[in-house]
Amino acid sequence: MRLRAVLSLVALGVVLVPAAPAAAASDALGPTARGHGGTAFGPTARGHGGTAFGPTARGYGGAVATVDKVATAVGIDVLRKGGNAVDAAIAAAATLGVTEPFSAGIGGGGFFVYYNARSGRVQTIDGRESGPASMTKDWFIDPADGKPYDFNEGRVSGLSVGTPGTLATWESAARKWGTKPLSQLLQPGARVAENGFPVDATFRQQVTDNQAIFGQFDSSRDLYLPGGQPPAVGSTQKNPDLAATYRLIARKGTDVLYKGAVGRDIVRTVQHPPVSATPIGEWAYPIRGADLRMSDLANYRLRYPAPTRSDYRGLTVYGMTAPSSGGVAVGEALNILERTDLSAASRTQALHQYLEASALSFADRNRYVGDHTAQWKLDRLISDGWARQRACQIDPAHALTKPVPPGDLTATGCTPAPVGGQVEEGQSTTNLTVSDKWGNIVEYTFTIEATGGSGMVVPGRGFILNNELTDFNFAGTQGDAPDPNLPGPNKRPRSSMSPTIVLQDGKPYLALGSPGGATIITTVLQLLVNRIDLGMTLPEAMAAPRASQRNSAGIQAEPAFHTQYGPGLEALGHTFGPDVPELGAATAIEFGRNGRVIAAAEPSRRGSGAAAVEFSR
Ligand code: GLU
Repeated sequence: MRLRAVLSLVALGVVLVPAAPAAAASDALGPTARGHGGTAFGPTARGHGGTAFGPTARGYGGAVATVDKVATAVGIDVLRKGGNAVDAAIAAAATLGVTEPFSAGIGGGGFFVYYNARSGRVQTIDGRESGPASMTKDWFIDPADGKPYDFNEGRVSGLSVGTPGTLATWESAARKWGTKPLSQLLQPGARVAENGFPVDATFRQQVTDNQAIFGQFDSSRDLYLPGGQPPAVGSTQKNPDLAATYRLIARKGTDVLYKGAVGRDIVRTVQHPPVSATPIGEWAYPIRGADLRMSDLANYRLRYPAPTRSDYRGLTVYGMTAPSSGGVAVGEALNILERTDLSAASRTQALHQYLEASALSFADRNRYVGDHTAQWKLDRLISDGWARQRACQIDPAHALTKPVPPGDLTATGCTPAPVGGQVEEGQSTTNLTVSDKWGNIVEYTFTIEATGGSGMVVPGRGFILNNELTDFNFAGTQGDAPDPNLPGPNKRPRSSMSPTIVLQDGKPYLALGSPGGATIITTVLQLLVNRIDLGMTLPEAMAAPRASQRNSAGIQAEPAFHTQYGPGLEALGHTFGPDVPELGAATAIEFGRNGRVIAAAEPSRRGSGAAAVEFSR
């Protein structure tokens, strides 16, 4: 989140709900964190009506956690005006499209998971971007030399842009489960875009990181490089084109993007990237157009797949199925971990098990999960029988040599197949968690893939196009075995997004998600293990240092994790790669007894997040 003053909130008519002070560690300690008894809830936030959303808020009724104060304020305002969780999530998401434009927006896609309190069901929307009908498996192979493009060569081009699913997702969610029309829910975001918001250090840094890319396109540099430089911290960032786009959509409906004028501008941008005649700075690669057509946009369809489901220590964990690998990978790892009593293990042993389970499930995810994976394979990967077959490879005394091979789905016993996998990284995307006083929950992760997406702002429309198609593997990664994540006509790239809702006895217990590319899976898994097994409260689980083992030789860890747990894990044979400053930018809500809720965002990662509750008492 951005350390933004909440300037525009008065203009928004936002009623601010006081945040709890940052979790006082003492107020929330339970001896074990299992279940959602009172031990996890400290004193509720006492109101003072201030504007300072902190990373933790406790109270009653609905709750909102996002990475951004402005978006959280919009969400909580919608709840207080009688909207439900779906309304609030959409309004907050549309605001994030303005204030977090390098992570998410209507130029991208995502996965929306919804718990319907009335039916007790968890339902999903797959709003993932899809590739053009003309996409072939060689989409990212350079015809000049037959080799895959460099990542950035593919990224900054029309080749990387899939048909955006985000706007369709918002419309569908509003119609199916919301109480207000999308046209209304776009208005707060339009006002923020029009009136502007203060630039903070995170925003400026994200522009700086993309300066060479944005500098290649007139549309991107006009918006984000005023005077040829990243905007100053504290300056006001406006986006009148995006305000106008939101209002056009509000008036004319989402067809304006999928079949109309906005769609034509998307297609033109992809086919003929708006490369500047006078670029700022150098870009190492040719910027190619690609064959995305109006028919691709018009034929875009949301999917409504059943969520993945895994049972973990008496809880039921729901996640996102293919083309996201999130639900399957988190579920497989949990099933493996369930075979050990982590709460009774030493911290080193518990983390050893966590890292090994992650590596094994990543090997399987890389081998088997893609957009067209057969349902029986997904079911098998998330079954207890499969977990038995995989868990038997973990030695409590020695780390496995990485990469571990994927398992053979047709075999029985500990029979790994012969080829290893690859490592993926990323740090873009945004996540939000919203609940309402009726008990509905939204867990929503959405993205434009890399921070800054393809780098191309659609001229005159104010939003950046995704580079989601670079989530395909550019070339096969599985040796002689088929790679499930190669490009193909209308295919959706594999994702790691893991919006997760956990029920206990059919009632909400926890909802959580995070950005972070493939590290999303390990961040969500680690948060679950921290909260359910390792005796941490939700704010403690959120703050705890993170590590990610995605089946590579070296564990990727935050410095505090490496310092604290490195020696013990290295003694078991684990090796660490270079430390990374931070992993993920999660949000979560936990549901307690008698309607109590605790909303949690990051206390420091990505500049810290913003949590709020509808009623502080
Ligand atoms: N494109 C990634 C995915 O779908 C998310 C990008 C990120 O979080 O950095 O898994």
